[in-house]
Amino acid sequence: MKKKKIATDSVKYDPDCDTVVWQLGITFTSVKEFRVAVTKYAIQKRVQIEKYINEPNRVRVRCSMKNCKCLLYASLDPKSNNFVIRTYIPVHNCDRVTINYLCNIRFLTKAIKEDVIEQPNIRVFKLQQSIRKKFKLHVSKTTTRRERARILNEIMDDHILEYGRILDYKDELLRSNSGSTCVVKPGESNKLGRPLFETFYICFEAVKMASRSCRKFIGVDGCFLKEVCRGQLLVAVGKDGNNYTFPLAWAVVAKENKNIWRWFISLLQDDLGVGDGSDFTIMSDMQKTFFY
Ligand SMILES: [Zn+2]
Repeated sequence: MKKKKIATDSVKYDPDCDTVVWQLGITFTSVKEFRVAVTKYAIQKRVQIEKYINEPNRVRVRCSMKNCKCLLYASLDPKSNNFVIRTYIPVHNCDRVTINYLCNIRFLTKAIKEDVIEQPNIRVFKLQQSIRKKFKLHVSKTTTRRERARILNEIMDDHILEYGRILDYKDELLRSNSGSTCVVKPGESNKLGRPLFETFYICFEAVKMASRSCRKFIGVDGCFLKEVCRGQLLVAVGKDGNNYTFPLAWAVVAKENKNIWRWFISLLQDDLGVGDGSDFTIMSDMQKTFFY
C-alpha cells in the first residue's frame, strides 16, 4: 500500500515571529518575503550567508564560509503561487561574524527608525551602539549616518506635506463635527511666501455638551512636544461626575507665553460657557501667570 504523503506544504511563514525557523515545505507569500526572512535569520544567527542563485522564481542560499554545509533552497510553486522551501541542510559549523553584508540599508531602516523618530538629534555612535546591542553587529559610521539622514528627510517631508494640508484638516473636522471650534492661526510667511504654522486649537461639540454636566473644574497645563516637529501642547481637562478626567480642549503652539495662554483661555471661555469663571475651580502649575 502506498504511504500517504504528509502535507507539509501547509505550514505558512509568519513574518511577525521573532525567530526564523526553517523547515521543509514552509510557504512564503512571495520571493520578497523569503529574502527578508533570510536576512533576518542571518542577522539573528550572526552567520554570513549568500544568495548564490537569486531569481524571482528560485533562490538558493548557502553559508559563505568554506566547509560549511548549510544550504537552503526555495522555489515558486506554480500551483499555489507560493514560495516553498524545497531543500534544507541545517548544519552550521562556522564561527559567528560581527560584520554582515546582509545588514544593509533596507534592514537598518527598520532597526533604527524608531530611535531616530524619538530622538532626531541622536548621535551616530549611539545608533551604532544600539545596533551592536540588538544584533551584535558592527555597522560603519558612514552607513549609519547616511541612513539617519535618509530617515530624517523622509519624516520631514511627511510633516511638511501634512502641515501644508492643515486648513483642509480643519475644514474636514468642522464638516464632520458641526458645532465644534477649530482655530488655525498661520504665522509669518517663509521665503516662498507660504505662511508657517503657528497655532492650532480644537474643542469638539460633543465635549462642549458633556462639559455642562461636569464638575465646575478646569485643569490646564502645557508640555513640550518632542520628536521632529517640536512645539508645545496646551491642554484643558475637566472632571466628570465620577471624578474621571477627560480632555476639554487642546492646542498645539510653537511656544507657550502669556499671550498664547490668554488666547487659549479666551477660546475655552467661549466654548465652555464659563463666563468670568467665578464659580469654577481652575488648576494650573502656576508657572505662568496667565490669568487676568
Ligand atoms: Zn555556516
